[in-house]
Amino acid sequence: MQISLAGRTALITGGSLGIGLACGLRFACSGAAVALLARREQPLTEAVRQIHAAAPEARVAGFACDVADGARIAATWARVSDELGPVDILVNNAGQSNARPFETVTDALWQQDIDLKLMAAVRLTRLAFPGMRARRWGRVINMLNTAAKAPPPASAPTSVTRAAGMALTKVLAGEGAPHGICVNALMIGRIRSDQIHRAHARSGGNTPLEAFIANAGRDLPMGRMGNAEEAANVACFLASDAASYLTGCAINMDGGLSPVP
Ligand code: NDP
Repeated sequence: MQISLAGRTALITGGSLGIGLACGLRFACSGAAVALLARREQPLTEAVRQIHAAAPEARVAGFACDVADGARIAATWARVSDELGPVDILVNNAGQSNARPFETVTDALWQQDIDLKLMAAVRLTRLAFPGMRARRWGRVINMLNTAAKAPPPASAPTSVTRAAGMALTKVLAGEGAPHGICVNALMIGRIRSDQIHRAHARSGGNTPLEAFIANAGRDLPMGRMGNAEEAANVACFLASDAASYLTGCAINMDGGLSPVP
C-alpha cells in the first residue's frame, strides 16, 4: 500500500526527539509539511536538520513552545498556520513519564501532568477542529500509554491523565466523524526514545546503552523494546487517507505488552 500525505500539514508536539521526531521524519518523507513543537531550541534545530536531510523537498519548521501553557499554545498555533498553512493532522505527543505511589503525588504534580498531557491536547484540538471541519478532512492522533487501559499500582498521575486522554479520543471521534475527522490514540508500551537514553544516564551509565536497552526489553512479549519508527509507521497510516474509516480506537502500540486488547 502506498501511503501519501502530500498536500497535508502536520503539527507534532514533542516533535524534537523520540517518537515525535520519528513521526516528523516519516510524515515529511510521505509528503507532508511538518511543524515540530518542543520547549528547547537546540533539539528542535537538530530535528529540522535531520528531517531536511532525509526529505530535502519537505517544508519543515520548529517552534519553541511549552504546550503545558495555554497562552503559548494559542500564539504558536497562529505562527504555525501563518508559516505552513492550515493544520490537517495534529499529533498530541509531548509528554514524559510521571508515575509514583499515589500518596506522594501532590496537587502541583497532578496539575502539571494534566496541563501537559491532557489540556495541551484539549487546547490544540479545539484550535484544530474548526478548520478541519470546514475542509471536511482531519486527523488527530493522541499518543497515550498502555497504563490507561490497565493501570498498575504506583502509576499515577500518568495512568489517570492518559485514561482521560482515551476518553477525550472517543468524544472527539464521535464529534469529528460526520465531518471527515478521524481521531485515534496509540497506547505506547515501551519504545526506545530519548526518554530511555535519560533513564540510562540516570542509572549511572555503567551498563553500555545497547545492553541497558536490551535488558529493559527482555521481559516484554517480543523480547525487545519497540523502535520510535515502528510507532511512527502506524501514526503515518492513521494520518493518511488509507485510514479514512478508522476512528475512536485506542490501539496498543506495545508489542503485546498490555493485558487488555
Ligand atoms: P522523549 O522524551 O523522547 O521526547 C519528548 C518530547 O516532548 C521532546 O521533544 C520534548 O522536548 C517534548 N516535550 C516534553 N515536555 C514538553 C512540553 N511541556 N512542551 C512541549 N514539548 C515538550 O519522549 P518519547 O518519544 O519517549 O514519548 C513520546 C510520548 O509517548 C510521550 O507523551 C510519552 O509520555 C509517551 N510514552 C512513551 C513511552 C516510551 O516508552 N517511550 C511509554 C509510554 C508513553 P523538550 O524537552 O525540548 O520540550
